[in-house]
Amino acid sequence: LQRLRARLARSNSAIGQALLSLLSRGGLDEQAWEDVEDTLLASDLGVEATQELVDSLRTRVKVEGTSDPQQVRQWLHDDLLRLVDPSLDRRIAASRTGEHPAVILVVGVNGTGKTTTVGKLGRVLVAEDKDVLFGAADTFRAAAADQLQTWGERVGVPTVRSHTEGADPASVAFDAVRSGVEAEVDVVLVDTAGRLHTKRGLMDELGKIKRVVEKVAPVGEVLLVLDATTGQNGMRQAEEFAREVAITGIVLTKLDGTAKGGIVVNVQRKLGVPVKLIGLGEGPDDLAPFDAEAFVSAIVG
Ligand code: GDP
Repeated sequence: LQRLRARLARSNSAIGQALLSLLSRGGLDEQAWEDVEDTLLASDLGVEATQELVDSLRTRVKVEGTSDPQQVRQWLHDDLLRLVDPSLDRRIAASRTGEHPAVILVVGVNGTGKTTTVGKLGRVLVAEDKDVLFGAADTFRAAAADQLQTWGERVGVPTVRSHTEGADPASVAFDAVRSGVEAEVDVVLVDTAGRLHTKRGLMDELGKIKRVVEKVAPVGEVLLVLDATTGQNGMRQAEEFAREVAITGIVLTKLDGTAKGGIVVNVQRKLGVPVKLIGLGEGPDDLAPFDAEAFVSAIVG
């Protein structure tokens, strides 16, 4: 939690701090509420959730007759926590063992941190004593398989890959999952491409990967990787993915050094699936399970 807080609150514009400084400026006039609204919007909370929060805070301040900064901050904390929804099931399929390996497809736009996430997640699972296998199904980008294999060597996970550039991603994914079944591993993590010649092509490809893999073992999880720093543009792309592939969870990367933590609420609302993991840096230990309470405490400060 300390580390999370340190990473998330590095920016001075962490929501709680900004709110505190607004409140300590004096009474809560119209201008102050507008500033609160701007602060929340700047954190990428989204228009609807921001409106809800501000309405709720305004009502409470009025009804309770206090605008004591610490009290308002506590209300903000409670309201945000409700929006983030601590009751959502955020476990990943890998933690439920069955007769097949848990197959996890990792999807998302290029550059969001897919390969890095596969590497880090491999490390987490190995630390939990699981046998893991990587599948390098991003055959579109020449260096992607090398990058994944390097991660595999770093965290002690073998990688199934093709050495032919432009090889059929579905057949690499199939090989990986079949190897995983034969070797009786616990989890197969499949890295996929984020870009093809056309968007249609990409979505068709992801559908095909899923269908082909399911001839061998059920896909337990489709994790969509989203870069927290990309704002509305990233959200739009995420929505496009979610329309085409049935995603089961979100990995929000690059939350280190950004004050855009509000995007958690926004993305969960828009995509209807929980944020399950968060990326807090480029290193092998910089992936954390999403903990609603810790997260809200960290961004409210
Ligand atoms: P992919 O194209 O989606 O597979 O993206 P990569 O895994 O290659 O990551 C793109 C860049 O983002 C790399 O430089 C990563 O080191 C960096 N990256 C990934 N996750 C994080 C994160 O949580 N925090 C930070 N700061 N950088 C990250």
